[in-house]
Amino acid sequence: MKITDIVVTPIAFTDPPLLNAAGLHAPYALRIIIEIKTDEGITGIGEIAGGSSVLDSLQKVKETIVGMDPFERNAIRLAIDNKFLSVMDSMSVGYGHRNVAVRMFSAIDVALFDIIGKAVGKPVVDLLGGRVRDRVDFSAYLFYKYEGAGGPFGFKRNPNATGWHKDKEEAALDPDGVVYQAKAMCKEFGFKSIKLKAGVFHPQVETDTILALRKAFGESYPLRIDPNAIWSLETSIKYGHMLEGVLEYFEDPCKSQESMAALRKEISIPLATNMCTTSFGEIPSDVALGADDIILSDHHIWGGLDATMQLGRICSTFGLGLSMHSNSHLGISLTAMTHLGCALPELSYAMDTHYPWQSEEVIKGGRIQFEDGSLGVSNEPGLGIELDYEQLEKLHQNYLNCGIIDRNDEIEMQKVNPDWTFASHVY
Ligand SMILES: [Mg+2]
Repeated sequence: MKITDIVVTPIAFTDPPLLNAAGLHAPYALRIIIEIKTDEGITGIGEIAGGSSVLDSLQKVKETIVGMDPFERNAIRLAIDNKFLSVMDSMSVGYGHRNVAVRMFSAIDVALFDIIGKAVGKPVVDLLGGRVRDRVDFSAYLFYKYEGAGGPFGFKRNPNATGWHKDKEEAALDPDGVVYQAKAMCKEFGFKSIKLKAGVFHPQVETDTILALRKAFGESYPLRIDPNAIWSLETSIKYGHMLEGVLEYFEDPCKSQESMAALRKEISIPLATNMCTTSFGEIPSDVALGADDIILSDHHIWGGLDATMQLGRICSTFGLGLSMHSNSHLGISLTAMTHLGCALPELSYAMDTHYPWQSEEVIKGGRIQFEDGSLGVSNEPGLGIELDYEQLEKLHQNYLNCGIIDRNDEIEMQKVNPDWTFASHVY
């Protein structure tokens, strides 16, 4: 089998005005849909974070791997490594710089697995070694937010929204607002654990929000907070003490492996990261310093599905737990995450997902339905999903019309508050 073409389609979909340490989500979130075509008529699909540099790099990937056999994933990875040798690039806000080769192989790996699964008549989970569980739990992902639906409605409401899609338009700017959001989201999706994206307000407000969630949901709901490394070490120690016995894990309160390691000596809450350790090359120092207890993986960042399976083995070798990070995404990413989650023996936490914040889809059958906060995978070959080309075109037109080609949460925040800067926002 030979790869004959890679079709890259940038899309934009409605995203509500969610707040984080880097600023504010734009009215549209960007993704890129990838189709890898073969000479045997089999097409594999994938989905990754959008952005102009990613689009440029994908063109180079296309030049590099057309003509190669999709089964030869190792040779493809090596070819991409050689193409992008030592090229570094900035990813989305807050993630610094990373190796483009890893990012580009991550971009195509799901589509390659989809092709292989279709060719051999097996679901992707079987190609990863088979199921260790039939369903994967996901966590409610809460945000402080302004009122509004995002997309064409911006900070206004969609008058036709009902149910959760109406509830999610509510402002959540204090503990009560976040508790309302949590109740609505957990009722709709059945989630049994909760994560709060923090780093927005004073740490006391965010600590009070976690304590309000504990009061509203009781001890049976594991709680996590993620200030996106905006707190100082001293602040992390101070508020970490207030959250001992309350949090399941404390996600990236402060920046750098050194600060996390120092914090870890001071508080009893497990520390998790998707910011201080985001690649295999950072694991030796992570382990040597004792920077954290849990790595939050992401197949879009760590080098694809197989690489994430390998990360699970490495985490268990060093006594680290494994959980899963997410960005704004649609159903191809969600399905790939679910295949991975069903296959990963070391996964010991509910996975993050932004999916409830979205309302559109690019796959046939529309929005994926959660049951009791979890998802399973089908036995259909490959990912078991198909692109809806009408929807894909609609979301591509959104991309062309929305005027956003790169994510920049700081610029979006400055449209609301011209004096706001990322640097000034450190506690
Ligand atoms: Mg995080």
